[in-house]
Amino acid sequence: MATMSHPQHFMNTSGETDSVWVHKEPYSNRPHFPKLDKDIEAEVCIIGSGIAGVSSAYELVTRGVMVTTIEAREVVSGKSGRTSGHLSSALDAPYTDIAKIHGSGGAKIAAESHAWALKRVGEISKKLGFGCEYRMLPDYEISQFE
Ligand SMILES: Cc1cc2nc3c(=O)[nH]c(=O)nc-3n(C[C@H](O)[C@H](O)[C@H](O)COP(=O)(O)OP(=O)(O)OC[C@H]3O[C@@H](n4cnc5c(N)ncnc54)[C@H](O)[C@@H]3O)c2cc1C
Repeated sequence: MATMSHPQHFMNTSGETDSVWVHKEPYSNRPHFPKLDKDIEAEVCIIGSGIAGVSSAYELVTRGVMVTTIEAREVVSGKSGRTSGHLSSALDAPYTDIAKIHGSGGAKIAAESHAWALKRVGEISKKLGFGCEYRMLPDYEISQFE
């Protein structure tokens, strides 16, 4: 049976080990927020502060929507705090598979939304001055078959 080294570890990250960048950028540098201890009002409540929750909150807040984000642990303590951050519109599921389920229109929407999102990350990181080394690079897909 796996044992958790320290209960606080689970609050910081969903993995048993720490990602390499945590040595230079420790969890203590991340923003901490108080526990919700009273009723509050919001127009939108987002559950989870990973990239999906934080991005949704950002897009809403910058459009003037009053948002509350609720997180069970610390911010980006889930997969988003461990990701290798490779953004691509070449998805794990081939577009031909997506089209079988959602039609060619659905596959087109998936492609367009991913192309939009990866540019959007660049725009936001530039605007907010994140030192996340965002770069557009060529992508090569290599077949495992001959
Ligand atoms: C090692 C690794 C490498 C990866 N590399 C890539 C990559 O290169 N490119 C890529 O596109 N993807 C990659 N991924 C996948 C990517 O990181 C995830 O798809 C993405 O971060 C998921 O974001 P999320 O916001 O949906 O979930 P999460 O980041 O997991 O966030 C969910 C949050 O919700 C909270 N939560 C859950 N339940 C509740 C609840 N009931 N109440 C309140 N809060 C709750 C959790 O504590 C967590 O903070 C990688 C993942 C890993 C682990």
